[in-house]
Order: sequence, then C-alpha cells, then structure tokens
Amino acid sequence: MDTHVLMHGEEVPRSFLRDLTGLERPCYTMLMSNTLTRVICVKLNVDGHDATLTATQRAFNEAATWIARVCWDEGITNTNTAHHRVYAETRLGYGLGAQLACCARAKAVEAIKAVKAKKHETCPIFGPRSSIRYDARTFRLMSLDRVSLNTLEGRVVCRLVLGARQHAMLVDRAWDVGGADLVWRQGVYYLHVSQHREAPDTPEPDGGTLGVDLGITQLATDSDGQSFSGAQVKGVRARYHLRRQRLQKVGTKNAKHRLRTNAGREHRFQKDTNHCISKALVQKAVVSCKALALEDLTGIRERITVRHEHRYERHSWAFFQLRQFLTYKAAWAGVPVHLVDPRNTSRTCSACGHCEKANRRSQSEFLCQRCGMNMNADHNAAINIGRAYWAAVNRPMAATSNG
Ligand SMILES: [Zn+2]
Repeated sequence: MDTHVLMHGEEVPRSFLRDLTGLERPCYTMLMSNTLTRVICVKLNVDGHDATLTATQRAFNEAATWIARVCWDEGITNTNTAHHRVYAETRLGYGLGAQLACCARAKAVEAIKAVKAKKHETCPIFGPRSSIRYDARTFRLMSLDRVSLNTLEGRVVCRLVLGARQHAMLVDRAWDVGGADLVWRQGVYYLHVSQHREAPDTPEPDGGTLGVDLGITQLATDSDGQSFSGAQVKGVRARYHLRRQRLQKVGTKNAKHRLRTNAGREHRFQKDTNHCISKALVQKAVVSCKALALEDLTGIRERITVRHEHRYERHSWAFFQLRQFLTYKAAWAGVPVHLVDPRNTSRTCSACGHCEKANRRSQSEFLCQRCGMNMNADHNAAINIGRAYWAAVNRPMAATSNG
C-alpha cells in the first residue's frame, strides 16, 4: 500500500514522488481550488555540507516528532495554539532557529490533521531521514544555480543540478515560488521546489460542461455515460498482485530484483492507460466545445466519504496521475477545468435531485428512493459533477432547476 508524504499541505502518494524524482518526469502539476501548483524536483550538489544537512535533518524531524506528540496528547490542531505551546521548547531542546522551528511545527500539525481526518489511531513519527520543510524565510533561490538553505549552523549554499527545462521553469516569472522540501533518498539530496500560479482564465466554451467521475471499476465515466474501463488495468493489476505475493514469499535477492522490475512494468502500463483516457476525454471536450468538471480534492481529508477514502487509499497513485494528466492536457488544449464540491455527487439523483445515502445501492448501481430512477452510479455522479459548476455560479437558478 502507498504511504503518503505531505508536500505543502497536500498529501501525495510516496510512489508518485518516486516516479517523479526519476529523470523522466522532473516536475508535476496539480490543480487545486483553481490554483495551479507544480513541483520541480531538482538534484542537489551539497558541496561538502552533507554532515550539516544530515544533522539538521535529524534535529528537524526529532523536533517535528516531539511537536506531533505534544499536539496529539493535548488535542491541539490549531496552528496558533500549537505555536505558543511548542515554540520555545523546540528552539531550546532541538537547537533549531526561529524559522526552522516554525517549519517543524507546520509539518507536525499538518501530519496530525491528515492522520486525524483518516481516523488513524497513531500519532505521526518522522524518521531522521524524513524531509525538511522549507518556506520563504528558510530557503532562497539565488542567481544561476545556487540555493541557500537554513541549517543548525546558519545558512549553507548548495548547487542545484539543473537541466535546461528545469532552469527555465525555475526562472519563469509567471510562477510564484512557494516552499520547498529537502528530500534525502539513497545518499542523494533533492530539493522539491513548489511554484504556484492562478489557473489561466480560459474563455468559457458554449457547449456546456462534461462532468467526469474518476473511479476504480471504471477509471473514468463522463456525463454522457461513456466509460473508460479499468477492466484491463484491473486484470493486469491482479496478475501483478499474484506475482508479487509469490515473490515476497521467496524473499531471495533475485526475487527482490524481479519485484522491482514488475513494479516498474505495472507503473508503465498504468501510465499508458492514464495517458489514453485523459487524451480521449480532452479531445471529446474540444470537439463538443465543452469545459471539463472534476471533483475538487482540496480539503478532501476533512470531508472524506467512505467511497472516496476507499479510492484514495487503494488507488491513490493512479488516481493522482489521471487527474494530473487531465489537468495539463486540458490546459494545453485550452479546455477550462472546473473543480466542484465532491460532497453528495454520488448520492444525489440526477433526475429529481433527491439526496440520500440509500440511493447508492452498490458500487455500480444507483436507484433513487424517491423517483425510482435507476442508472449506472458513476454515470449519475458524472452528471452531477457536470452540473455542479453551474449550480455553484448560479445559485438562485439551481434551486429551481431540475435539468
Ligand atoms: Zn430521483
């Protein structure tokens, strides 16, 4: 199962990042609340500062673990309360400067919120090699290829190992630089720099909105009722799953090697599938002059439903990737993407508007308890997603509209 890492308030599946730190995809973009966020993963040449960074990393994560423990035990989830409770002790006990102490607190509080929203029972713990969170006051991109990082021993300057494309992205004025995470993996440091910009204003197409419901059995279903089947992916997954179980039992070096190779193959297959589906959906939107509507996952941790949690846990990697592909392909094609409130999209009747949990009879079947409308559950959800945007921009009309 995927574990998640927190990056600037967003929970990202670890395997997703692993894929990204490969040279193949040094950047990813996500759309949340109409803000585009992209993260550029850059290899770092630490120029002899290895020991300092290692010590800082350990102190930072020990502090974050301690803060999480305190907040957990005392039921603190509010940032300000947490700050006053732990600030002085963080500085004294772990030797962190004022600003790094704040970053450690931010990391701890976010992790607690994420864990609580998932109703997990355990307080988060961060290992000595877990990432360091940097914000605008603790790191600074300098001219050319240098970055200055706050450490236990003041600021150190490291060199970014940049490709031409990464360099162009970092200096692109259209994007604001946010925070960064210092990540250590197998002896190498990487800086994950995040950038933000407002999603570009694309003129609203006149063909209406194509709602898209992303799921497991059907990877995507649109509001026209077209499904992009996960059947093939599921078959491949099941096959790899069996193989994985067998290899895990064997446990030899060779078996471990084959486990890794298989994981790579499975990911590549998933990726191809996601490329095909996102391409088909964006083309459909272009041809029919429609905008796309997806569920907004901002704050999904606070309003998780069983249905979503299930998806999020089990297929988070594929789920994130499909959203990401859809987002950037749509941006390239000039198709606006609207994010809608995901609450009730799966339990509301698209014919009469009746909302009830019992409407959703199973993963695949929707049966309205009021009007008796019966249809595929994903299709019904996609129709609601497609309409939700207009309902939100035009509240008074939405109240009387059934169509
Ligand atoms: Zn109904």
